Amino acid sequence: MISRYPTKQIFVGKVAIGADAPISAQSMTFSKTSDVQATLDQIKRLYFAGADIVRVSIPDEQSANALKEIKAQSPLPIVADIHFNYRLALKAAECVDCIRINPGNIGAKSRIKEVARLCKERDIPIRIGVNSGSLEKEIEAKYANGAEGMVQSALYHIKLLEDLDFTAIKVSMKASDAARTVEAYRMLRPLTPYPFHLGLTEAGTTFHATIKSSIALGALLLEGIGDTMRVSITGELEEEIRVARAILQDSGRQKEGVNIVSCPTCARLEADLKSAVTEIEKRVHQIKTPLNLSIMGCAVNALGEAKHADAAIAFGKKNGLVIVRGETIGKYPENELVDRFMQEVYKLEKDYKST
Ligand code: SF4
Repeated sequence: MISRYPTKQIFVGKVAIGADAPISAQSMTFSKTSDVQATLDQIKRLYFAGADIVRVSIPDEQSANALKEIKAQSPLPIVADIHFNYRLALKAAECVDCIRINPGNIGAKSRIKEVARLCKERDIPIRIGVNSGSLEKEIEAKYANGAEGMVQSALYHIKLLEDLDFTAIKVSMKASDAARTVEAYRMLRPLTPYPFHLGLTEAGTTFHATIKSSIALGALLLEGIGDTMRVSITGELEEEIRVARAILQDSGRQKEGVNIVSCPTCARLEADLKSAVTEIEKRVHQIKTPLNLSIMGCAVNALGEAKHADAAIAFGKKNGLVIVRGETIGKYPENELVDRFMQEVYKLEKDYKST
């Protein structure tokens, strides 16, 4: 596999981003940030779903005022998302772990200077977040909203901060389609040392967002590009983290967690494989130990797959074999199979933790 592109490392709270740090998964609350309790409830849901960092929008003064209390009770580092308003940026930067703002959009140089000074004083980074739909007028006129325009916009904002000797930067460049997003990140990667936050914007509902994000973020991750990421989904909060973790795992950039291989089934199947896989998926959701599990509908491919798995099921006629690291543990009736299989999975988890 291609190794990670070497980048500078920054910290969002205690979470390292860039260089050899694990690629983190982020999400965003959609409550009114001014509603402290609702926002904390969503942050906690994201925390339990496995998020590393959470972003909250700061559209107004009330939201900025709520940050101190949210930050005090949040189990996750907080990124405050601000557009245009440098006063809100200053207020947010007083207490959060990172701010997302494009310095070129907040007016006079003195304002950029003030924001950069405060972030430097508090030792927090700034995320430059370029969106293909809101490029600077001059850049858009020259490059339309293609990948090159996004790259030029990112370079413009980066330079504004570098000129102020501010280098705790991470960069995102999001479009709503996979091709432009990949092209932009690829173009910018050799031009700047800062870590990249990967993502698409307005990616759609779970089905489409998962496909688009898997294509775009997967392609970049396989090329060694990307240091933190968000999968944007119009849907349930937890889905974003679930999909992000799966993309990281399936692209080989995250070792922890359970990987399940299951067959698509065919006429040879003589048991309820789908229910078994769904149940096992539910039960292994919180397991961080790196384990490969294989669940196959018949003996045709099961034994071969089992050789590469830590634990496997090979279904038969209303029953199934449980196989652990190539060794058959026993044959069990269908109604006991999942429980018996999970006993072996928990044993493997325990063994892993004790080594
Ligand atoms: S493992 Fe067996 S049941 Fe599953 S798809 Fe292959 S042949 Fe069909």
